[in-house]
Amino acid sequence: MSKPNAAEPAWLSEGLPHIWLPYAQMKTMTRPIAAKATRGARIVLEDGRELVDGISSWWTAVHGYNHPALLEAARAQLERMPHVMLGGLANEPAYRLAAKLAEIAPKDAARKLDRVFFSESGSVSVEAAMKMAIQYQAQTGHPERTRFVAFVDGYHGDTFGAMSACDPDTKMHAMFSGGMPHQHIVALPDTPEREAALGRLLASSGDIAGVMVEPLIQGAGGMKMHEAETLRAIRRICDAHGALMIADEIFSGLGRTGAMFACTAAGVVPDIMTLSKALTGGVAPLSATIAAKHVFDAFWSDDIDRRFTHGPTYSGHALGCAIALASLKLFEDESRLDQVKVLETKLEAGLRPLAALAQVADVRVKGAVGAVELRRLDDVEGMRRRFIEAGVFIRPIGRVVYLTPPYVIGDADLEHLLNAVAAEIVAAPA
Ligand SMILES: *Cc1c(COP(=O)(O)O)cnc(C)c1O
Repeated sequence: MSKPNAAEPAWLSEGLPHIWLPYAQMKTMTRPIAAKATRGARIVLEDGRELVDGISSWWTAVHGYNHPALLEAARAQLERMPHVMLGGLANEPAYRLAAKLAEIAPKDAARKLDRVFFSESGSVSVEAAMKMAIQYQAQTGHPERTRFVAFVDGYHGDTFGAMSACDPDTKMHAMFSGGMPHQHIVALPDTPEREAALGRLLASSGDIAGVMVEPLIQGAGGMKMHEAETLRAIRRICDAHGALMIADEIFSGLGRTGAMFACTAAGVVPDIMTLSKALTGGVAPLSATIAAKHVFDAFWSDDIDRRFTHGPTYSGHALGCAIALASLKLFEDESRLDQVKVLETKLEAGLRPLAALAQVADVRVKGAVGAVELRRLDDVEGMRRRFIEAGVFIRPIGRVVYLTPPYVIGDADLEHLLNAVAAEIVAAPA
């Protein structure tokens, strides 16, 4: 690991031998840099420098950091009642948030997502979705439907069920494949031939409970984008073969692709949808699994054994739900989606010209996501360090250098990000 920098605080050097960091090879990684404070699109470091944040703390801080409305909602809820459990007791923020999410979730004449189950992380909301689908199938006469179809380049989380639905080729979870349920991981149905092949798979296997997809954009898989028609193909196939469509909107939801939900933009209503990441604007951990009425109806019974058997301790966390309500209100009060539209044109203008370079394989922009895929990227750690030196916080995934800034980022900060990306891309080897 790199040497401590001069201004490193004692808590970092004293804690580093004891903390186990996520997805890090701790022996060879670049030393983490101490953050002291945040505001807007900036991270203030212990040594006094400021970084413009290009990725919003794993895509969560969509309103920028320390938005006064979120801090105020947190403070007020904290003083009144941080949390009471959902078993036997009701807390106002969880009930209000459930009603609000049901109001804004995708709907059409055939389906309405209107029943909200709360967890505290994205992965767990995916587990809940998968368990709901399996139990729904069993309770509607299809106990043999216990498996899932998911897609190449997909990522759905790190717990066992969620892992089993990830693209195994990323090697993130290869170590655990022996203990994982086996799912069908196939190409997205983005051509008529692939749609037909997916239909044949569902028809022949007969054991598919649901089809899980990250709508319009596969985030952790490298900001891969597909057309709305691909989602409509998945909806058609699920309808034809009795599988539930599960839309994992943990990344794509809450404005990131330009609409409140990617499914809404695509005119598709899934049977189950998961949300997390930006749900509290990056302030507290919270996730939701939202089921359509016909799914919930399969659990509604006089028979106790037909209830949904899942229940996180912190389900419906009052503090988190209060912040999420304030976050959803900001989308309305501060016209977030309009800001995302403007951001999209600026990302497009800043990144698209890079597509002409020989070392660039592809440039992709949708909503508040801009990605430049290089043909090769050998020294990711070096690039990360140079970004810090340039005053920005950007972390490439594989060969993909991407920006997912807070929706509220100002022009000067955005230009700083775009210039830093352009400088790295231009200097990259072909
Ligand atoms: C991040 C992510 C998850 C997992 O969420 P965690 O909160 O990290 O468990 C699942 N699905 C998608 C699409 C994600 O982007």
